[in-house]
Amino acid sequence: MRAVVYEQFGAMPEVREVADPAPARDGVVIGVEATGLCRSDWHGWQGHDSDIRVLPHVPGHELAGVVQAVGAEVTQWRAGDRVTVPFISACGRCASCAAGDQQVCQRQTQPGFTHWGSFAEFVAVDHAEVNLVRLPEDMRYSTAAALGCRFATAFRAVVAHGRVEPGQWVAVHGCGGVGLSAVMIAAAAGARVVAVDLSPGALALAAEFGAEVCVDGGAVADVPAAIVSATGGGAHVSLDALGSPATCAASILGLRRRGRHVQVGLLPLAAGPAVLPMERVIGWELQVLGSHGMAAHAYPAMIGMVRAGTLRPDRLIARTIGLDEAGPALASMHTAPPTGMTMISPRGAA
Ligand SMILES: [Zn+2]
Ligand SMILES: [Zn+2]
Repeated sequence: MRAVVYEQFGAMPEVREVADPAPARDGVVIGVEATGLCRSDWHGWQGHDSDIRVLPHVPGHELAGVVQAVGAEVTQWRAGDRVTVPFISACGRCASCAAGDQQVCQRQTQPGFTHWGSFAEFVAVDHAEVNLVRLPEDMRYSTAAALGCRFATAFRAVVAHGRVEPGQWVAVHGCGGVGLSAVMIAAAAGARVVAVDLSPGALALAAEFGAEVCVDGGAVADVPAAIVSATGGGAHVSLDALGSPATCAASILGLRRRGRHVQVGLLPLAAGPAVLPMERVIGWELQVLGSHGMAAHAYPAMIGMVRAGTLRPDRLIARTIGLDEAGPALASMHTAPPTGMTMISPRGAA
């Protein structure tokens, strides 16, 4: 098969002919029709992710496609099924999985990290019965792949952790892929959304996707004060969708009493520890929650809203490229961050 391969961390990935993957006994091989380019792929390529232990490596974890081959123990899936997967492949057997919390599985694997990923014509996914999500016939592969890690994570953050109710105020700090997803999802849930970003372009998109108030973080001296003022006392729910010590603290300080902060953006230790205003958390009985993907069994509610047109992940896709362009696109993510999602079509038509 053709795949995007890198030999060394930071070395330009190349498209190469490599061996096709084979399914594990309880796994499948998926023919990749669409796969999203994500900042996590860039971090992995830079050597920031300790899950990538063996080189050469193939990145990619936000995928949709067609089941190509199934292992001997797989009974619920067969070749030809249209599927997507959460970015975490759960084991299905640990205590977290037994509790229905596959998104924090204790023995998780991740295509594109613990093994070769989806910037390829085929990708292997373990424990198929736990991890595959069936796609409606009328859903495009690119739309399904756009649910990827960012949209599904934002959905869980807003709906399951934020427990957003119609009319409540939701603040979203950082309007990249996950932030814009959160804006769209919160607005669809009937919330009033305040979007915060440094980029006027990102704020314009946030407004397009349903933000009622946009706060230019570079233009106001005190972001939390701006949110408190715009929302008549602070947000009910606030997300740090960027992942930095500053946006995390601002998100907490922009809440009203008994509000909920959900940390969605990664806070790598390399960027320094986040100092949180815990005196505020105690005094105002705030909740501080982490969000890490979403289990396969939770997808149908989200997919139902996509089919109904209430959620439009397809609108987050800014461009679609072929496998040959994927390496350079990955390499330039840091210096020229794309606006909106980049979708890769390993077979030419998503
Ligand atoms: Zn597990
Ligand atoms: Zn991702």
